[in-house]
Amino acid sequence: MNEIEEFKKIIESSDNIVFFGGAGVSTESGIPDFRSKDGLYNQKYDYPPETILSHTFFVNYTKEFYKFYRDKLNAIKYEPNITHIKLAELENKGKLKAVVTQNIDGLHQKAGSKKVYELHGSIYRNYCTKCKTFYGPEYVFGEDTAEIPTCTKCGGIIKPDVVLYEEGLDDEVVSGAIKAISEAETLIVAGTSLTVYPASGLIRYFRGKNLILINRDSTPYDRMANLVINDSLGNVFKLL
Ligand code: ZN
Repeated sequence: MNEIEEFKKIIESSDNIVFFGGAGVSTESGIPDFRSKDGLYNQKYDYPPETILSHTFFVNYTKEFYKFYRDKLNAIKYEPNITHIKLAELENKGKLKAVVTQNIDGLHQKAGSKKVYELHGSIYRNYCTKCKTFYGPEYVFGEDTAEIPTCTKCGGIIKPDVVLYEEGLDDEVVSGAIKAISEAETLIVAGTSLTVYPASGLIRYFRGKNLILINRDSTPYDRMANLVINDSLGNVFKLL
């Protein structure tokens, strides 16, 4: 039995699946991987992206932050790919219980997924740093928005609801993800090298039967897995 057949068999026999995905899930929609060779982190800017995408930089150089943010992180024009779509279908059938993602592009929800733990937040949400009023993506990415968007109610500065460097993850999101992973029968980990926090820590909570890793390259967790598939996600999920 080849790997894809084995993958299909596990998915067919399991009705408590959790999917944990990294940047590789979105690259097949055309969204650049932050950390890949040709990704965002190797492009030229006045400051390195890790600096621009930090809390300190947002507070001190808000205008420059927004310039970069709009230029590089505006993913609202992108569409879900076959992996997003198949995961939403599995949830619809009651087989998949949750998606845990490191991506902020909202593509799982765009594909129809309901239970999504967004560890690093979402570009679709923004909030006033003073009164916490929420604003949609058009308020930041729209053509006629201010260089620094401010709250219509109190004048406070609007911040994207994404986790910047130096910021902690949302407790509720993390505990929800841990609960889903620790209760899952099957965990699919895909499109992540598993070297970056919090991915490496979260999958340690898995106590289930089938750990499946899908990644182009090998990961430090390959030996723990029941099934390792080194292929593109699209190639795997299109066969489900
Ligand atoms: Zn406000």
